Amino acid sequence: MSKGPPEFPAPSLELSPYAAHDARSRGRRYAEPPPQFRGEFQRDRDRIIHSNAFRRLAYKTQVFVNHEGDLYRTRVTHSIEVAQIARSIALALRLNEALVEAISLAHDLGHTPFGHAGQDALNACMREYGGFEHNLQSLRVVDELEERYPDFQGLNLTFECREGILKHCALPKARELGDVGQRFIDRTRSGLEAQLANLADEIAYNNHDVDDGLRAGLITLDDLCEVRLVRRHFDAVRGVYPQLPVRRAVHEIIRRMINEVVVDVIRTSEALLREAAPASSDAVRAHDSALIAMSEEIATQHLELKRFLRERVYRHHRVLRMTSKAKRVLEALFTAFMDDARLMPEEHYAAAQRAEATDGPRGRARTVADYVAGMTDRYAILEHRRLFDPAERT
Ligand code: MG
Repeated sequence: MSKGPPEFPAPSLELSPYAAHDARSRGRRYAEPPPQFRGEFQRDRDRIIHSNAFRRLAYKTQVFVNHEGDLYRTRVTHSIEVAQIARSIALALRLNEALVEAISLAHDLGHTPFGHAGQDALNACMREYGGFEHNLQSLRVVDELEERYPDFQGLNLTFECREGILKHCALPKARELGDVGQRFIDRTRSGLEAQLANLADEIAYNNHDVDDGLRAGLITLDDLCEVRLVRRHFDAVRGVYPQLPVRRAVHEIIRRMINEVVVDVIRTSEALLREAAPASSDAVRAHDSALIAMSEEIATQHLELKRFLRERVYRHHRVLRMTSKAKRVLEALFTAFMDDARLMPEEHYAAAQRAEATDGPRGRARTVADYVAGMTDRYAILEHRRLFDPAERT
């Protein structure tokens, strides 16, 4: 083997000019003294890790309901995988690793129990009251719902972290949100760390849902080979290891798929950044297209994989049976608490009364949605049983 310089040199620790820098942060909603021995974005990350909402992610579904098996991804293992992928890319591009980690760990804090089925059900329940959207809810968790600090509501995170958490936002909502909503009105972009966490989310779930779908027996490796991307890696792995047992082959294929897309994002983004040469993270925000991206070829292949997962995993008969059950549980919980807010635990009832005094039914509905969205899968199932099964202790 030749001993030339490594193809991918170890990343330099110096931040690029277009990364988020502590000293240039737009700051927090409530002024605080600067942290000691750590940066502002490290402090954001640490606050997220210590929050109640973060611990609840351990019992919230990604695709499979929490009690279906211990090896499936939950929202917390998903978030850690997102952070891992985002951090690798951030270091190679000299972006702010602590910020990208904080955004990755926080991005799903507002997710309902039972994955997307839960979010759809709650959104339908909230239709007359302003709707429910998990990105917005993640922001609401870190801005309002966490109660940990004597001087303010929420976690008081930096603008840059909150900007990253709010991936999408409809215009009417954006107008209510102030600073982090402004870019949806101005049609500008987020900083690079936010763009990266968003892409890493997609990379993580595309790959781990392949693994989980196989483990659950919803799809086989043969089925997956209909997808060009998988087929290519399958052939490469089989070429080198013809006798490899299926389980190991699957891991090797997924490992290679993740590595390929990570390297692709680094190279593509490097080229985009070189070309655009933004002088700062604000120049990134003003740029007319995203600067963190996959190449067109890899993006097309990943889209194919995404479509396969949608048809064969997310819409699989067994998954649909589970999600229809989950929807009914959430609808029933929402309706019961909306009809009589006193059925909620005391602190949530108190919040409902306060909100109703200022906002009427809309306010009450929001506090019911906060309570229901905060539930873990198993808590929602238990709460449903306690409310509707007369034999159950209340
Ligand atoms: Mg996610």
